[in-house]
Amino acid sequence: MNTSVKPRNRILIIDDNSINVELLFQLLNYAGFEVWKALDGKQGLEIINQKTPDLILLDIMISDWDGFEICAYLKSHPVYAEIPIIFITSLAESQQKVKGLKLGAVDYITKPFDQSEILARINLHLKLHALNTQLKHEIHQKKQVEQSLYELNLELEQRVEERTAQLQITLEELQQAQENLLDREQQLHYKAYHDPLTGLPNRAWCLHQLQTLIQQVKSNSNYRYAVLFLDLDRFNVVNDSLGHLLGDKLLQQVAQRLQLYLTPHLKIARLGGDEFVIIVENITDDQEVITIAQHILELLNPAFKLNQYEVYIGVSIGITFSHFGYDYPEDILRDADVAMYAAKANGKGCYQLLTSELQEKAINCLLLENDLRRAIKNQEFSLCYQPILSLPNSEKLGFEALIRWHHPQKGMIPPDQFIPVAEETGLIIELGLWVIKTALNQIAIWQEQFPGFSKIAINVNVSPQQLMIPAFAEQVQELLLDFHIKSDQIKFEITESSLLKTGSDYMEVLKQLKTLGIQFCIDDFGMGYSSLSRLHEFPIDTLKIDRSFVHRIGSNQGEIELIRTIITLAHGLGMDVVAEGIETKSQLNQLSLLGCEWGQGFLFSKPLNSVDATQYIAALSPSHWQPERVKAWFI
Ligand code: C2E
Ligand code: MG
Ligand code: MG
Repeated sequence: MNTSVKPRNRILIIDDNSINVELLFQLLNYAGFEVWKALDGKQGLEIINQKTPDLILLDIMISDWDGFEICAYLKSHPVYAEIPIIFITSLAESQQKVKGLKLGAVDYITKPFDQSEILARINLHLKLHALNTQLKHEIHQKKQVEQSLYELNLELEQRVEERTAQLQITLEELQQAQENLLDREQQLHYKAYHDPLTGLPNRAWCLHQLQTLIQQVKSNSNYRYAVLFLDLDRFNVVNDSLGHLLGDKLLQQVAQRLQLYLTPHLKIARLGGDEFVIIVENITDDQEVITIAQHILELLNPAFKLNQYEVYIGVSIGITFSHFGYDYPEDILRDADVAMYAAKANGKGCYQLLTSELQEKAINCLLLENDLRRAIKNQEFSLCYQPILSLPNSEKLGFEALIRWHHPQKGMIPPDQFIPVAEETGLIIELGLWVIKTALNQIAIWQEQFPGFSKIAINVNVSPQQLMIPAFAEQVQELLLDFHIKSDQIKFEITESSLLKTGSDYMEVLKQLKTLGIQFCIDDFGMGYSSLSRLHEFPIDTLKIDRSFVHRIGSNQGEIELIRTIITLAHGLGMDVVAEGIETKSQLNQLSLLGCEWGQGFLFSKPLNSVDATQYIAALSPSHWQPERVKAWFI
């Protein structure tokens, strides 16, 4: 229920006729209005000032003032102008009425008045006034709303403009970021597929390209391609002797020359090191590819200018064709590489096409690698020991430890067949360490069995990769301590070719081992076509002449002179000499005459397993190693 009481309308009566005023007061009061009375203009204005009535009943002829003047004053006043004024007067002329209405009065009632009329008129004008006020208020509100809307609209428009500008900036930033991203992606893509040194596409690109070609052949069996695998023949020599900077320069120049040869169906990539690949797409016959190979040989034939040096580099090329049927890009590269190695074996500076025999060999090699991994796990290896005897009378003894692989199905596999694979795959590190441990263990056993054995050294073959391990010398030192073996009881054999190929890379480790007291033999000397003069760069104690020289003894005098020269030069460098592969007495005699200190070969003994080698040592002393006899043998 609404409990609020509606406020009463307030009416001011200004009239100097007190009877009139009282009459009106009674009437209006009775009708429910709040009524104030003023008997002159002054009093009337005072009440208006204090209370602001809702309607004024105004007499025209008041004692102190003219009602028209009061009306004009109030209508001109900003606060009171809206108060409805009804004139009450005895003046009935219409001129007066017009004047009053013109001044802003809402009505005109002439005296004597009818009570109900006056009430009706008052109510009507109050209502009209209320409606008018409400209307004005609503109009005002509407205007305000419109103004707010207008302002809001303006603000919105401004915001939209600002937002649009911001969005535009963000959009531009986004576009820029996207462009940067694309650039970066392209750069990364370029980097992923290019070799930074030469700018040529790299191995990853090459494999990708080959994968595409494999698919192409699958969808069109008539489509053919060929892959040329290039390996520079003398790059290592240049790199080792002139340094890596010039080596890099050389590779860049080679790349430039190869690029000169580019045609749309030829693609060139650098695989790494001095290896390049050329892919020939869409070929019609093999001859086309052979012609390309010949051109490349000619292209790389002229000297390269590296600062003041002119170097001739040469290249070996292996070629394979799609008709060998490939599923994997790696197989294509492997086969082309195999053919390239065959080209090297054929004397370098030439090309070689892949044959089924070469491919079979490569696959066997791969199988061998798998076998080898298993064999290391299953410990299928043993060491043989081949005696090395002093010349001419075999007074002093040494051994070379030689590894053997007892394959569960294939039987004994000689080291020549698996050591290169072990080297290529890195398995040689583990295998090589096993060899050293086993040899040291054997020395420890023999030392206990045969007093005096401590004077005997055992040669162990080591691969260049082992010498590349920075901690190799440390590992060896620990093993010597573990087995209580002196460092002069073990000698490392390094083949001549591997020593000269990567010599400078492991010089530091060689020096560390030398400091430990380990001696070095250069193995298979004469096979690496190196000049003796370079040998002094390495801390070598013994030189082993390759058995191919020993075998040719007796065939002509020139061979003997060659061996004599090697022995003389070795002695000049402070080395002693072992001749490998002595099979005949005449070889033994010749070598003794030439001053060779040591001999190894089937004439003395084949490599022996540890049991036979133990017997061999024991047999050297008929009375089974009485200390004084032993001394006579070994010292
Ligand atoms: P190498 O170090 O030059 O070893 C000498 C090779 O000549 C041995 O072959 C030996 O059996 C053979 N030989 C010895 N005397 C004669 C002879 O009078 N006539 C003939 N025709 N041959 C003779 P093997 O044991 O097959 O070893 C071959 C090569 O395998 C070794 O050549 C060596 O380079 C490598 N090798 C052997 N064992 C190891 C090893 O433990 N580690 C490493 N890294 N390489 C090894
Ligand atoms: Mg050897
Ligand atoms: Mg040898």
